[in-house]
Amino acid sequence: MTLENKNLITNYSSAKYSWLKSGGKISHLYKIYNKIELINLFSRSDTKTKSLLVIGNLSNTLIKDEGFNGIAIKLLGDFTKIIINSDHMLVGAAVLDNYLSKFCYQNSISGYEFLFTIPGSIGGNIFMNAGCYDQEIKDKLISVIYFDIISNKILEKDIGQLQFDYRKGFQQKNTIILYGKFKIAFGDQKEIKKLMQKYEDIRNRTQPQKVNCCGSIFKNPINHCAWKLIKSSIDESFYNGPIKLSKTHSNFFENDPNISANSIDLFISKIQKRVNDKHKIILERELRIID
Ligand SMILES: Cc1cc2nc3c(=O)[nH]c(=O)nc-3n(C[C@H](O)[C@H](O)[C@H](O)COP(=O)(O)OP(=O)(O)OC[C@H]3O[C@@H](n4cnc5c(N)ncnc54)[C@H](O)[C@@H]3O)c2cc1C
Repeated sequence: MTLENKNLITNYSSAKYSWLKSGGKISHLYKIYNKIELINLFSRSDTKTKSLLVIGNLSNTLIKDEGFNGIAIKLLGDFTKIIINSDHMLVGAAVLDNYLSKFCYQNSISGYEFLFTIPGSIGGNIFMNAGCYDQEIKDKLISVIYFDIISNKILEKDIGQLQFDYRKGFQQKNTIILYGKFKIAFGDQKEIKKLMQKYEDIRNRTQPQKVNCCGSIFKNPINHCAWKLIKSSIDESFYNGPIKLSKTHSNFFENDPNISANSIDLFISKIQKRVNDKHKIILERELRIID
């Protein structure tokens, strides 16, 4: 059976699988289970020239209603594994943050408690340099192992060679993050558990739960909180309707399932305009919108 038949999903519904429960279709999604499949796929001349989209757990991505018509990749199989070595952990890009956090707890590895409450994958996390409670993934990373689709090679870069910033991680064109090599520090299992619970409690108190959302819509501008800027710029109408700001946290919106992605985009632009009109600050989106 060719890779084409075995691994390809056509017209993949991002609305079905994304955290927003909205978004257009992906015309060609390849499920990739190992390095050989990846190298084979990108040995073909047609795959290199099309635009590339890698999807993780779709907790920070919205695909426009027109859909994505390039080559999309979803890592599975070998990329869902975690291997503990003497001085580092090798973590597949498809491992979920929450799973890694629980794995670290089980193995008394401290420092990964903050990942317990982030709903993404390690690949999405390294791409975004995700974080919370004053910690970011870059603090834990030793290096990133990635696939370069142009040279068709697997390469590795140390964190020191990379310019990670606030919500801007490994975002190199034409690459697919395959693994992160992470630091290991052992700690007290009870303390690790306590911290995971503390972070979960804070999250439950301060952010909406069990709603269709993408986490924070916007990055916090330097010396400002996005939620405060938003709250002071909008009127009550933004808290009502099929796409509405959360009353628990004004930098989150909640939407009805299958609402048009383009109307979500428009809603976000309206918030941006209100904040700019009032504070002369242009909020930068954290949510990735793909067209
Ligand atoms: C309820 C909720 C709470 C959240 N809380 C936080 C938080 O506290 N802190 C925070 O930082 N974020 C938070 N987020 C946002 C989100 O979870 C993170 O940005 C997360 O890292 C995204 O991971 P993902 O696997 O879902 O990525 P996706 O949404 O699937 O993708 C995000 C981006 O990463 C790229 N990407 C994904 N995998 C790869 C790969 N293997 N190689 C190359 N590129 C890749 C995609 O192309 C896309 O551009 C929250 C989201 C929700 C829904």
